[in-house]
Amino acid sequence: KARIGVVAYQGAVSEHLRALERAGAEALPVKWPRDLEGLQGVVIPGGESTVIGDAMQTWGLLDALREWVRDGGAVFGTCAGAILMATEIKNGKPDQPRLGIMPLTANRNGFGRQVDSFEADICVRGIEGSAFRAVFIRAPYFEVTDPEVEVLAAVDHKVVAARYGRHLATAFHPELTDDLRIHRLFIEMATGGQKNPG
Ligand code: GLN
Repeated sequence: KARIGVVAYQGAVSEHLRALERAGAEALPVKWPRDLEGLQGVVIPGGESTVIGDAMQTWGLLDALREWVRDGGAVFGTCAGAILMATEIKNGKPDQPRLGIMPLTANRNGFGRQVDSFEADICVRGIEGSAFRAVFIRAPYFEVTDPEVEVLAAVDHKVVAARYGRHLATAFHPELTDDLRIHRLFIEMATGGQKNPG
């Protein structure tokens, strides 16, 4: 069984743990650097990226995760979690703590505060069958800054899902629906042979 961790300070932690278990993985909460031992993948949930990033820095998890990624670990960020994976953050607190492992610009609240939250049926590259019901909550969108980043989905020409080596970022929340296809994709990525670029 794949062992996948979920960064567990704030946000949609239990929803991800449950989705990963239902998708066939062993899912474990991660707070301390030592919790990374023996994991193949780590999910950073949605919530508030400044709160989660500050907590990760305080608990030493940012540095520990960067090292774990260099050793081949796979990371999946949803919404705030995806913002924390990006190298550039627009509309954020200047220099807010982040992991910065994916060459993306994340535009926080990029669909506008008026729009706030919405759902859309989208096509996601690598996901077979029907469209994916994507739940967006004060979601960011991404600008891709490196040709090695593969765009997996867009809404109104705004990138909302992308892959970079073993890393996956979605602006929406697959843990909030019963559709397990994106969690399954990540479990495959975390246990497969693909390397991280760079
Ligand atoms: N807008 C939040 C942020 O910038 C993210 C919202 C979410 O994760 N649903 O951190």
